[in-house]
Amino acid sequence: IERTLSIIKPDATRRNLTGRINAKFEEAGLRIIAQKRIRLTKEQAEQFYAVHRGRPFFAELTEFMASGPVVVQVLEGENAILKNREVMGATNPKDAAPGTIRAEFAESVGENSVHGSDAPETAAQEIAFFFAGIELV
Ligand code: ATP
Ligand code: MG
Repeated sequence: IERTLSIIKPDATRRNLTGRINAKFEEAGLRIIAQKRIRLTKEQAEQFYAVHRGRPFFAELTEFMASGPVVVQVLEGENAILKNREVMGATNPKDAAPGTIRAEFAESVGENSVHGSDAPETAAQEIAFFFAGIELV
């Protein structure tokens, strides 16, 4: 059993898509074991996305992530990291497979509705960024 960090991004919370996105996770066998709605500061968004510092879209990305509430969540299941990325679909919604979250809901490559950890090490780091151990049962 594996855990991954998911974020429902501001474009999706603004359009009231949290429930429909969560239904996609649950239908894929991912269990939402922790979840909270928060608003990131620009500094917190920069810290979370520090690996992308220096990329041309870094300012746009961190401003967007601080532009409204996000839902941060921990998903648990067999191969949760890979399974979540399959349910999310490709980064650019134009390339996302039909039925994926990004194909159905994303507005652009930047405002693409969800984030998901990409490896076990980043999943552990990203979960610890938002959740205390006592919140994970
Ligand atoms: P995430 O890390 O959010 O799960 P990802 O792994 O599919 O998505 P990354 O390449 O890690 O994509 O990029 C992180 C995020 O930066 C993307 O989800 C998107 O919001 C934003 N981003 C990536 N490429 C671009 C771009 N060319 N223009 C604008 N924003 C971008
Ligand atoms: Mg990524």
